[in-house]
Amino acid sequence: MNTYKGRYFDGKTSRAVEVTITNDDANIYLNAEGITKKWPLAEITQEDCTRQFLSIRFGSAFPYEQLDSTDKAFIDTWLKLNNKSGFRHLHSATGFLAVLLLFVLSIFVLGYAYGLPWLAGVVANKVPISYEVTLGENALKGMLAESKTNELKSKQLNLFFKQLHIQSDYSIKIYYVNEEVVNAFALPGGNIVVYDGLVKKLKNENELAALLAHEFTHVQKRHATRNIFRNMAGYILISALTGDMNGLTQQFILTADNLGTLSYSRELETEADDYGMQVLKENNLSCAGMKSLFETFKEEEKIAVHELLSSHPDLDSRIERVEIFMQKNSYDIQQNDSLSYYFKQLKK
Ligand SMILES: [Zn+2]
Repeated sequence: MNTYKGRYFDGKTSRAVEVTITNDDANIYLNAEGITKKWPLAEITQEDCTRQFLSIRFGSAFPYEQLDSTDKAFIDTWLKLNNKSGFRHLHSATGFLAVLLLFVLSIFVLGYAYGLPWLAGVVANKVPISYEVTLGENALKGMLAESKTNELKSKQLNLFFKQLHIQSDYSIKIYYVNEEVVNAFALPGGNIVVYDGLVKKLKNENELAALLAHEFTHVQKRHATRNIFRNMAGYILISALTGDMNGLTQQFILTADNLGTLSYSRELETEADDYGMQVLKENNLSCAGMKSLFETFKEEEKIAVHELLSSHPDLDSRIERVEIFMQKNSYDIQQNDSLSYYFKQLKK
């Protein structure tokens, strides 16, 4: 029988006693002058175990007896014993817990990545239009506080939009801002903001119609509202976990203030293009403007239209989508002189 060396503590004093260790399959035996111990493996708890050091504890109540050993032969024996004794259950239980934890964590992460956009959509669809209007109005006030809107051009833009004869539960209001920014964006509830810098890039009324149909879709399909919820959801979760509501309030204010700079996901942008084309078709308007609009952006790569270009669908695939739509949908295109009239006024 092999014998090993270790140091025994009785748990009542800090005095270490050098002991001789022996074992069988189910027990460890400690021997020294005046000490004879039999520790069944099932009643031993491992405190620490490395290749160089082992510390185990015996007993189920304080004070615990303890055995430390730096005897590598004993550590090897101990590890082998554990593989065929009750400790194996402990290890497999730990393994099971680790797997369970990983599983729960994966659900959490997946839920965050995929569930959140879905949940944001569900919540956004339940928000009454009047709430969206209030939210959009407040955001607009904040955003336009330092910008100059052009009243005449705003009026012309709204008249242009009316000529598109788009049906909606939302009352769409368009604001023309006199800034060189090449951008446009939609707010929850019906406000659309278009910048002078972007209008300057437009070549004809079809492009303006396409741009407005795209922005209108963001309103109609509640994309902006969805974006807020999606943006907020992470903070709501963190606040719920940490109990810190200050961060949540601040984030809400920040999100509402920056609605115009929130970019949409690839899916929402694609939906805005597709539904926008559908709207144009229903009103016998050409989709050619959408194609040429993207082509303009492509030619001048330095034009970064935040809302239209920030997200992932690349321009080539968007152009291709418009081409496919136009091939599949043949319909009579009606010329609307009013559209070209208002467009010319805008470009003056
Ligand atoms: Zn968009």
